[in-house]
Amino acid sequence: LVSREVKPDDSIVRVGDLSIGGAAIHVIAGPCSVESREQIISTAQAVKKAGATMLRGGAFKPRTSPYEFQGLKGDGLALLAEARKETGLLVTTEVKDTATLAAVADHTDILQVGARNMQNFSLLEAVGETRKPVLLKRGISATIKELLMAAEYIVARGNTQVILCERGIRTFENMTRNTLDLNAVPMLKALTHLPVFVDPSHGIGVRKAVPAMMRAAIAAGADGIIVEVHPDPPRAKSDGFQSLDFSEFEKAMGEVRAIAQAM
Ligand code: PEP
Ligand code: MN
Repeated sequence: LVSREVKPDDSIVRVGDLSIGGAAIHVIAGPCSVESREQIISTAQAVKKAGATMLRGGAFKPRTSPYEFQGLKGDGLALLAEARKETGLLVTTEVKDTATLAAVADHTDILQVGARNMQNFSLLEAVGETRKPVLLKRGISATIKELLMAAEYIVARGNTQVILCERGIRTFENMTRNTLDLNAVPMLKALTHLPVFVDPSHGIGVRKAVPAMMRAAIAAGADGIIVEVHPDPPRAKSDGFQSLDFSEFEKAMGEVRAIAQAM
């Protein structure tokens, strides 16, 4: 169902009044985790001013260690809804399991399925039963084919509103957090009609290097990017080492716009 052979023209995913996968590039920006009202509202305002069209922020966080910050959960969802109301930005947040799917779906415009859940088939099926747009992230060690098959699980249940996201894969290289596989962008664009996003933050995991990978993602033909932005990255409760501050984000957005216009 997701193959270009079946449907040659690009699919457009409609999120509110935004068309994802069309001519315009979309940028989803915001903190790894929602931490406080002040943090999420100030970030929403800053990223909107810099040109982001959507806000991200994790409430249910799938952390590697059970002793790390797990997110504000329900309170985080409520704060995201406040930021959405305050700024008019549409929001995306991760749905970690089927138990919290209904609550998350009530508070978000896009359901994010995280890398660690790309092959959680019960979750994929449940998300496929909803009619909410989905941002499906590539698994940490998943092939392009496996990503497409995971998308197939969602679309087979009738939810055609799927955006794929390359977010870096695990390789032998350990200077960076992951290896952002930009090969996946033109390959996916050729293989499927679904929109393709890139997450340069998790992809490289090094704050100073994120803007270069934002530019590279757009140059490679991505339909958009999802990037972590925090008011005070060194003090973030998760992923501060890869989060841009407001001025870094604003500068990177200018560069991204210039590349998008040149294409
Ligand atoms: C995130 O977006 O904060 C996240 C946990 O991403 P991933 O699932 O790609 O690791
Ligand atoms: Mn993160």
